[in-house]
Amino acid sequence: MDTLGKTITCLAAIAWKKNSLSLEKVEVEPPKAGEVRIKMISTGICGSDDHTIKGIILVKYPFIPGHEGAGIVESIGEGVSSVKPGDKVLTLAVPQCRECSACLHPKGNFCEKQELGETHLMSDGTSRFTCKGKPVYHFGNTSTFSEYTVMNEISVTKIDAAAPLEKVFLVSCGFSTGYGGAINTAKVTPGSTCAVFGLGGVGLSVIMGCKAAGAARIIAVDVNKDKFEKAKEVGATECINPQDYEKPIQEVLFDLTGDGVDFSFEVIGNPETVAAALASCHESHGVCVIIGLVVGVQLNISGHLFFSGRTLKGSVYGGWKGRDGASKLVSDYMAKKINLDALITHTLNFDKINEAVELMKTGKCVRCVLLL
Ligand SMILES: [Zn+2]
Ligand SMILES: [Zn+2]
Repeated sequence: MDTLGKTITCLAAIAWKKNSLSLEKVEVEPPKAGEVRIKMISTGICGSDDHTIKGIILVKYPFIPGHEGAGIVESIGEGVSSVKPGDKVLTLAVPQCRECSACLHPKGNFCEKQELGETHLMSDGTSRFTCKGKPVYHFGNTSTFSEYTVMNEISVTKIDAAAPLEKVFLVSCGFSTGYGGAINTAKVTPGSTCAVFGLGGVGLSVIMGCKAAGAARIIAVDVNKDKFEKAKEVGATECINPQDYEKPIQEVLFDLTGDGVDFSFEVIGNPETVAAALASCHESHGVCVIIGLVVGVQLNISGHLFFSGRTLKGSVYGGWKGRDGASKLVSDYMAKKINLDALITHTLNFDKINEAVELMKTGKCVRCVLLL
């Protein structure tokens, strides 16, 4: 390949400051030891990208956002053995080093080697991106809003060579986070009743997980009625809008179910919704899973809610061990065991990224895939 070992100049979306994303020419250096340079083919705008663009998540400016993506390996650094040029891959915000205590433990998936996530630089303390002579920070191990990106090998997973990249990018974050939250973290049981708060792409994927696990009743909750049709299409048995009631939503759910739900999911990242989702659970055995990103705030929850046996759990990337989980889910998609197509409502070219950010704010857009 003629780009091998050379700096590539390409298009990327850079956040120079809060709430601004501009398309710029960037230089992307070749990968160093343990790194992979990827030609991105597709990327989605996930809820947490919106958080980063708004500056809710701690970031360093200027940076290239984006974590949900699929592409093809362009070149590899020294010592990289799990992928080679030409391989189709997914980008993972949750790496899997296969060596740390989190990776080696049968439960959980929060790999300890997230240093890139905290420093926003590569392992050697430098960036592979520059724009107008200035270094540009990485984001979330990934920075997928660029025609080319450089990532650590432990955050890159090889997938089925026949997988359609304009679909399976969703396995890189949104779908897996929601679906796994129901299957792996909550361990939804057949015949159970579930409530899902927040009906974005991740919330809809939670509904799919609840359905796959055999839940009998799946109550979808959102303040935007435009989202109800899609929720029913993917498996919700009923949809409710908290604004239609005088009572708090947890009381409404108790009225609807008699004793509260067996499993509830907060997929917004709002501390008050977390408290309501927990209070909606059956007091003896109810399990509430926080999937939305609740950052920079304290949870204000009555200790009384736990006295009777409720459980509150956290979940990241649906509990899947990063690389193993993503490869498996892509195989499941190829075997038609999971449905990603229902979640992709819009397709735009990468240069329309700001239009895609606006689309995200409407109830009609679940996921907009950007093609690079
Ligand atoms: Zn995400
Ligand atoms: Zn690890």
